[in-house]
Amino acid sequence: MKMYDIGIVGGGAAGMTAAVYGQRAGKRTIIFEGTTFGGQIASSLHVENYPGIASISGAEFSFALLKQAKDQGAETKQAQVIDIKEIDGVMVIQTADEKISCKTVIIASGVTPRKLGIPKERELIGAGVSYCATCDGAFFRGLDVAVNGGGNTALEDAEFLSNYCNRVYLIHRRDAFRGEESLVEVLRGKENVEFVLNSTIKEIVGETEVTGLVLVNKETEAESTIDVSGVFVAIGQVPDNERFGGIVSLDSYGFVLSAEDCMTSHPQIFAAGDCRTKEVRQLTTAAADGAVAALAACKYLAFR
Ligand code: NAP
Repeated sequence: MKMYDIGIVGGGAAGMTAAVYGQRAGKRTIIFEGTTFGGQIASSLHVENYPGIASISGAEFSFALLKQAKDQGAETKQAQVIDIKEIDGVMVIQTADEKISCKTVIIASGVTPRKLGIPKERELIGAGVSYCATCDGAFFRGLDVAVNGGGNTALEDAEFLSNYCNRVYLIHRRDAFRGEESLVEVLRGKENVEFVLNSTIKEIVGETEVTGLVLVNKETEAESTIDVSGVFVAIGQVPDNERFGGIVSLDSYGFVLSAEDCMTSHPQIFAAGDCRTKEVRQLTTAAADGAVAALAACKYLAFR
């Protein structure tokens, strides 16, 4: 049976950087990605905070990193990992179709968009409910839409959508944004962007597609309805690590418990990027983790 030195779960910036480092250290690596190579960054319009690169699109960055990993000899597999088991000292990575043996594993599974958890949200995904403005915004050209959230993602989404849409409601549960003031200033200058503060979405209206939102003002508790064709939910990210909870320790939020050395509670498993416990979740720190985790895996392989 084929045996890899390093099996990497997740083809985002952390996972692909780990593959580059693993291959360059002479290790046989394979990356598993269930959706899009590049992860979150693949849908960013502009990346302007990666050292040495003034500006690049997320898609271009992802493609270049994937090419770099493949050129170094990394193998890739388009498949969702559903389980990791240890059998007689070998790590067995399981997808829906097969089991692949590895000496070490790097979990770089990233995060997924947090859901609102309100009526109609799940049913209307793809029919007006979206978690990615840059992916879906063009479908709403000339229409009225809402963005929910107060972080940089919501602010950037609102700015992006204001270029396509007739009206953009930016709904945030507090009266101050968490995201950067410079972005808030840009939005204040846009005639077709309306801030709806101290408000939450109680309900999404629509049978087969989104037609409106029921909002609640948190101060007055008054309910109101706005007519929109789409709602872009940008209320942060959550880990998706339950499937790994049997083999590595997770914190109470579901992040893989790991320090800056990227070690986990299992000696053959390392964690890199947004999926692990850490302070700063950025492209640069994901890439840095990929390097640290790969070198830690190499060290394990050398001294086991
Ligand atoms: P975030 O910064 O965690 O912001 C999430 C926002 O959603 C917060 O405003 C939060 O409200 C709100 N929220 C959370 N749960 C909610 C709920 N159940 N209902 C309603 N609102 C809810 O997430 P993010 O904007 O996705 O950004 C994640 C990280 O990526 C941040 O570090 C961000 O700076 C970074 N980022 C950077 C860039 C860039 O540099 N260009 C672009 C995008 C993102 P509260 O404020 O009340 O908590």
